[in-house]
Amino acid sequence: MYEIEELIDAIGVPILVFDRSLTLKYYNDAAKTLIPSVKKNLAAESIFNDKKISTQILRCLDMGQTEFMRIRYKIDNGTELAVNMKSLHENNSKIAIVALNDLSPLSEAKTMRSDFVANVSHEIRSPLTSISGFIETLQGPAGDDIEKRNRFLSVVAKETDRMKNLVTDLLSLSLVEAKEKRAINTSVNPELLIRMALQTTMPLAKAVKKNIKLNIDANLPDIIGNQENLHRVLINLIENAINYSSEGETIRINATLTENDNEFSAPALRISIRDRGEGIHQDEIPRLTERFYRVDKSRSRNMGGTGLGLAIVKHILVRHKGILSIDSALGEGSNFNVYLPLT
Ligand code: ADP
Repeated sequence: MYEIEELIDAIGVPILVFDRSLTLKYYNDAAKTLIPSVKKNLAAESIFNDKKISTQILRCLDMGQTEFMRIRYKIDNGTELAVNMKSLHENNSKIAIVALNDLSPLSEAKTMRSDFVANVSHEIRSPLTSISGFIETLQGPAGDDIEKRNRFLSVVAKETDRMKNLVTDLLSLSLVEAKEKRAINTSVNPELLIRMALQTTMPLAKAVKKNIKLNIDANLPDIIGNQENLHRVLINLIENAINYSSEGETIRINATLTENDNEFSAPALRISIRDRGEGIHQDEIPRLTERFYRVDKSRSRNMGGTGLGLAIVKHILVRHKGILSIDSALGEGSNFNVYLPLT
């Protein structure tokens, strides 16, 4: 037979064991990490700072062996716990095994989810409000004025495109998130990848009079990667470089092998997308890959941006065990570097 102390030590969940006098008899390392002030012989009341829990422990001891009790409780640092307890016989007396489950990761996830839903609703509501406003106007006398009607309809079309972009990006994001941990067993040729991305983005670049120059090292080896995912990464970065720079400017795409680079210590393929656009303030850089984060919301919206492009890039690179590093200075332009490990 194992002693209780040995058993609870082998369990990763924080556990406290109290005797009939509600004094702490044993605890494990996980409990010490969660509540650093715990020590043997402390009274339950001084640990939990709440009479309700001591009363529950007493009730648990009285009610017999199989009773489970669940109480939600917050400890001093604001951590929310679910407290489960069960009574057992030890020698001739009863003890209460109290297991503590840290609920903070769950409530963080809840907050993130509700923030996300609030953001999505907001992003969908503004184009919808604008569309329904224009429809109402068109149903009135303005609908008979051809010039006005065409103008309003083109706004409605633009707003509809915005919603379409949003839904497409939301779907992509949820797909790449779902596959983030899935291993990749295909390989891609970097040069082919870049040339395909160039083909896709060239019409936009031409329409807004931007040049794109390629500088790809010869004989780059194939890398482990998902073609469709990496195509999306390059398109998102190239489209941003096009959208956030001025007319007539040149966007440069370089691809080379690196080893022990400051940003990535393992041998890797580095694809850089550099623009001479407006640049980004240092304080904003760490936030760019957050969902819906945009330096200038209305500017991004006007260009059909969703604020999800870089979040998608980040998730795809996590799946590829790569990284995105961003160098940028206001007024000088930005350099978005994608690192993809060679092995
Ligand atoms: P968006 O759809 O708004 O472009 P992204 O996630 O792709 O969303 O980018 C987030 C924000 O990062 C953009 O709104 C913009 O403020 C900033 N950004 C991205 N790329 C560049 C760039 N090349 N130059 C300047 N700012 C950029």
